Amino acid sequence: MNVEIVTIGNEVLSGRTVDTNFAYLARVLEESSVQVIWHSTVGDTAERIAEGLSRALDRADAVVMTGGLGPTPDDVTRKAVATLLSRPLQLDESVLANIRERGKRSGRKLPSTVESMALIPRGAEVWPNPVGAAPGILIVHREKPVVLLPGVPNEMEALAEEFLVPYLRQRTGRAVECFTLRTYGSFESQLHERIGAMPEEWPGTSFAYLPSYFGVDLRVTVVGNNDHTVRETALRAYNELMAKVRGVVYAEGGIGMEEVVGAILAEKKWRIATAESCTGGLLAKRITDTPGSSGWFERGFVTYSNASKLDQLGVDEATLDAQGAVSAAVAEQMAQGARERAGVEVGVGITGVAGPDGGSDNKPVGTVFIALSTPLGIVSRIHRLLGTRATVRERAAQTALDMLRRHLLELPVDPSLD
Ligand code: ATP
Repeated sequence: MNVEIVTIGNEVLSGRTVDTNFAYLARVLEESSVQVIWHSTVGDTAERIAEGLSRALDRADAVVMTGGLGPTPDDVTRKAVATLLSRPLQLDESVLANIRERGKRSGRKLPSTVESMALIPRGAEVWPNPVGAAPGILIVHREKPVVLLPGVPNEMEALAEEFLVPYLRQRTGRAVECFTLRTYGSFESQLHERIGAMPEEWPGTSFAYLPSYFGVDLRVTVVGNNDHTVRETALRAYNELMAKVRGVVYAEGGIGMEEVVGAILAEKKWRIATAESCTGGLLAKRITDTPGSSGWFERGFVTYSNASKLDQLGVDEATLDAQGAVSAAVAEQMAQGARERAGVEVGVGITGVAGPDGGSDNKPVGTVFIALSTPLGIVSRIHRLLGTRATVRERAAQTALDMLRRHLLELPVDPSLD
C-alpha cells in the first residue's frame, strides 16, 4: 500500500516548527511495511488543505494528514476535508462528552469553541484520543483511507500507535518484523563491508544504515505473508548479524548509551562523578537524562579554566604546565580528582579542543582526551573527532559513555568489529 503524508500548518511551512510528525509517521509506517511515496506540507487555509488532499488522493492508496484539528479559527482541516469529500460535519455525542469530561477534570472553564472538535465528517470512524481532546478521524473515500490526526506530537503519536498502525497493517494483510541494532565505533562503510550482500535465505528482508553522532543504527525489516516464516527469518537475520557486528553493538531498539551505562552502574551499585572541560557538562546532562539516575550519578564538575582544574579537582600544576590542559595526563587527573572528591567508584575526565579556534598542529580541533578511573583501573585515550563545535562535543560525550560501558563490562576499551 502506498501512502502520502500531508502535514498541515503555517508554522511547519515557515520552518519555525521542524516537521517531526512526518519523520515519526514515515518511520512507523515503514516498520509496518506501508510505503510512504509522497510527503507534502500545506498551509493552514481550507483551500490549500483541500488541494493537498486532492493531489494526494490522485497518487496514493491512502492519505495520512496531521494538524489543524484544534478548536481555534485557524484549525480548518476538518471543514476542508468534509467539504472536499462531500461529507457534512455532524456532532458526535461521544466525542462531545469526552471533551466536556476533560474540561471538567481540568477545573477550568473552556470556551464553547472547544466543542467544535466534536464535529466529525459524516460516516467517519472516530479514534478516541487517549492524551488530548481532538480525536483521530478515519474516512474511507472510494476505498482509499483518509486519516486525520492532531498536530500536537504526543497526541499524534499515541493515535498512530494505537489505531493507525494496526489499521494499515490489517489492510495490507502482511506480516512484519523489525529490529534495530545500535552500534558505535565503526563507520557505515565498515559495517557495510562486514555485513556484505543480503543472504538469499533471508527473503523479504531489507536493511537501513542510519548514521548519526550517536553511531550507526542498523535497522532490519522483514516482510512476508506468513507470521511464522517472517519471525523465523528475522531471528535468523538477527543471529547472523550479531555474529558479524557484536563487537560494536551497544543496545537494541531505541535505548540510548546513557541508559545502558546507567543500568551497568546500577547493577554494580557503583556511583559516578564527571569532570568536564570541553563538553561543558554535556556528559552529566546525558547521564541524568535517564530517569532514576540519582541512583548512580553523584555530581559533575565543569572545570573549564586551568584554575578550576587545580582548585576543584586537584590537578597538578606542573603537569598542566608541562603537558597542557588538553593532554592524557590532565584527563586522568581530572577523572581521579572527580572520583576522590566525590567519594565514588567511577570518575570520568574529558578535556579537548572543540573548536572552531584553539587547535594546533599536534592538537588540532577535535582532539579530545577521555580518561576513566574506577576500581578496575585507570584508562585514557586520545580521540580525533570530526565536525563542528557542536558535533565534536556530542561525539565526545557519546565516546566517553561508550568507553565507560566497555570498561565497566571489562571489554576492550577500543571498539572493534573483530
Ligand atoms: P491544537 O489542539 O493544539 O490546535 P492541532 O491538531 O490543531 O492541535 P496544530 O495546531 O496544527 O494541531 O499544531 C499544534 C502544535 O503541534 C503546533 O504548535 C506545533 O508545535 C506542533 N506541530 C504541528 N504540526 C507539527 C509537525 N508536523 N511536526 C512537529 N510538530 C508539529
